[in-house]
Amino acid sequence: MIKLIIVWLIQLKYGKIDLMLYDLHCHSTASDGSLTPTQLVEFAQSKAIDYLSLTDHDTIEGLKEAQKAAQDKTIKLINGIEFSVTWQAKTVHIVGLKINPESKLLLERINVLQKYRRFRAQEISMDLDNKAQIKNALQGAELFSQSKMIGRVHFAQFLVHQGYAKDIKQAFKKFLVKNKPGYIKDSWASLADIIECIHQANGIAVIAHPARYGLKLKKLKQLVDEFKSLGGQAIEVVSGSQCTNEIPKINRLAEEFNLYASIGSDFHSQDMPWNNLGQFPELPINFKPVSELLN
Ligand code: AMP
Ligand code: MN
Ligand code: MN
Ligand code: MN
Repeated sequence: MIKLIIVWLIQLKYGKIDLMLYDLHCHSTASDGSLTPTQLVEFAQSKAIDYLSLTDHDTIEGLKEAQKAAQDKTIKLINGIEFSVTWQAKTVHIVGLKINPESKLLLERINVLQKYRRFRAQEISMDLDNKAQIKNALQGAELFSQSKMIGRVHFAQFLVHQGYAKDIKQAFKKFLVKNKPGYIKDSWASLADIIECIHQANGIAVIAHPARYGLKLKKLKQLVDEFKSLGGQAIEVVSGSQCTNEIPKINRLAEEFNLYASIGSDFHSQDMPWNNLGQFPELPINFKPVSELLN
């Protein structure tokens, strides 16, 4: 009853509000998540999520299975992807929502990025061998990947399994990051190419977890400004992988650059409860939610 009154009061002040639950950023075994696309959709349905977007790293391999799993459920599955981009020598992630998975340019870009992932994996493996005398890391990491995609998480899993680290977090801290063995300076796609390819696929380009790049406000604004001038439309105001106290800052950025606000858990696995599926603070209500573009 109290909730209904609150909703009514909010509606009176801000107009109609949307009570649907959206989670527009998560991962499956098609990249570095732990649930298969089917398990993920079932988990999302059990959490009463209304709209779920599967956004695996540089791949759309999981979408068909996820769509099939969603067919006999009330949940709506939105085709998505999370692209790796190199911007000013930094890795930045751009989510594409509502993409056409048959777009030729999209498939071409994915192909290039996956080839690069393979090359990078060989380099990571060689670096671990040369600098930490860890042998056959690539073969080891491959055993943890349940798809063709290979990422740093698979290396971290291998390192934990072999006893080089106590958990994934420590594996990243000791290896795989700047100035550590297994760190390779990334060279992903350009921001312009990725936004172009998302648009060619009729999708919505979204800056993922903007507070996670360690950028000072001035630099972050530069990124957002460039993204906006290239036609980017949205930004993750709420993300399970960025601090809750960053929400007001990112919300102000979204307003300043007139971007839609997106929301997502960045869920990977049930072992990481801090970004659990469908569990995050609500979007600030006086804002343009990206959900307006989804139907
Ligand atoms: P990649 O795209 O292969 O470089 O891997 C990036 C992924 O690694 C992210 O999406 C996270 O899933 C994971 N990751 C990055 N940094 C960390 C960290 N410090 N601890 C745990 N996982 C991390
Ligand atoms: Mn990941
Ligand atoms: Mn990301
Ligand atoms: Mn992600």
